[in-house]
Amino acid sequence: MSSQEVEVLVVGAGQAGIAMSEHLGAHGVPHLVVERDRIAERWRSGRWDSLVANGPAWHDRFPGEEFTIDPDGFATKDQVADYFVAYADKIAAPVRTGVEVTSVRKNNGRAGFHVETSAGPIDARYVVAATGAFQKPVIPPVVPFDAPVHQIHSNAYRNPAQLPAGAVLVIGAGSSGVQIADELRCSGRRVHLAVGPHDRPPRSYRGRDFCWWLGVLGKWDMVAPPRGAEHVTIAVSGAHGGHTVDFRALAADGITLLGLARTYRDGVMTFAPDLRTNIDNGDANYLSMLEEADAYVKRNGLELPEEPEARELGPDPECVINPILELDLAAAGITSIVWATGYAFDFGWLQVDAFDETGRPRHQRGVSTEPGIYFLGLPWQSRRGSSFIWGVWHDAKYLADQIAIQRGYLTYGLTGQVAR
Ligand SMILES: Cc1cc2nc3c(=O)[nH]c(=O)nc-3n(C[C@H](O)[C@H](O)[C@H](O)COP(=O)(O)OP(=O)(O)OC[C@H]3O[C@@H](n4cnc5c(N)ncnc54)[C@H](O)[C@@H]3O)c2cc1C
Repeated sequence: MSSQEVEVLVVGAGQAGIAMSEHLGAHGVPHLVVERDRIAERWRSGRWDSLVANGPAWHDRFPGEEFTIDPDGFATKDQVADYFVAYADKIAAPVRTGVEVTSVRKNNGRAGFHVETSAGPIDARYVVAATGAFQKPVIPPVVPFDAPVHQIHSNAYRNPAQLPAGAVLVIGAGSSGVQIADELRCSGRRVHLAVGPHDRPPRSYRGRDFCWWLGVLGKWDMVAPPRGAEHVTIAVSGAHGGHTVDFRALAADGITLLGLARTYRDGVMTFAPDLRTNIDNGDANYLSMLEEADAYVKRNGLELPEEPEARELGPDPECVINPILELDLAAAGITSIVWATGYAFDFGWLQVDAFDETGRPRHQRGVSTEPGIYFLGLPWQSRRGSSFIWGVWHDAKYLADQIAIQRGYLTYGLTGQVAR
């Protein structure tokens, strides 16, 4: 079959692929976006039913378009998906859905890449892997899959009714784990929640959302996580109109908190004695943000209402004072485990020299070590905001600039000039 020729092939039409298309279009660079499912499929069908955006609508969006909901509200997952479908339409993004890329290989003796897809081969001068940061669910090998307890990853969780009757153990207390645990508790389940190291910024402080505070304090623009905090998850929630994640309050509402899950043997799980440390460190992170916010208000002479009550932390719950280090799942009535333990990369289709020995992309701000290959949507690609809606738009702009610069070099000798 003869190959279709494409200048830039963008793989994936989530927010990253749509942003890439916008910026390539602005440079007048011919391109095609291929998506194996539908536009923004992960927001449509890859999340639990009640999920809303973690950031308010004024923040979690692209600069060129506002949501049609209250800017301080939190868009539902379907509203986010609809937003990107409408956005792709507005910018006339050349998206071909239902096309899966199965391999990308370097051409022999000439520039560009040979791409195999479910709809036939494509010859592309440049390839942008816009397949995101959340590709392959990760479940740590703690509980064997044939153990007598139902196990799913948070990416397969939809709603409480999906789980067998009984208590639930949620492992992982980032944004997904705490929201799922809370939803299960509200539905009347008994819930245990294993809490690892986390940051828990205030949902709002002195009348401003944490997204605003992270912005003015320069924290979205941090280029790397603080040393030693690489595995610290961030616990925030837009559920119920948005609220600060407070583990003491979750415990007071009836959720039993545990430390990091360690081992499983004959129906008994063990947990690290680190719950208090994790809660204390989360509180310290929370309080330090209040300090920084107060200093910012003072430094800039802002008139934002004081909020001393934000510093009041509730009493330590019993499960923190006397931590449970061993739990017989059946005796506790636990019939399901929800692993909210994150995701890994899956670039098996990208068969080029662009990865280190652990399979992580080798790149600088998304520009791969393999010339002609670009990555978009990676965590911390250029900054903390990179894998989020607003941040990926800025990284896409940078990549489109780099591709335009490379194309400029190629015009040398043809036009006698290097276009920049
Ligand atoms: C539970 C959860 C909640 C989140 N909430 C927020 C939030 O509130 N605000 C925020 O800013 N961010 C949030 N994020 C982070 C991030 O915004 C989302 O994960 C977002 O979906 C990432 O967009 P993306 O385009 O980078 O990747 P994806 O949305 O994952 O899109 C990648 C696309 O590539 C396609 N694809 C993959 N492989 C191939 C292939 N070989 N061929 C063709 N197509 C392929 C996939 O089908 C997919 O549609 C959340 C993430 C999770 C997991």
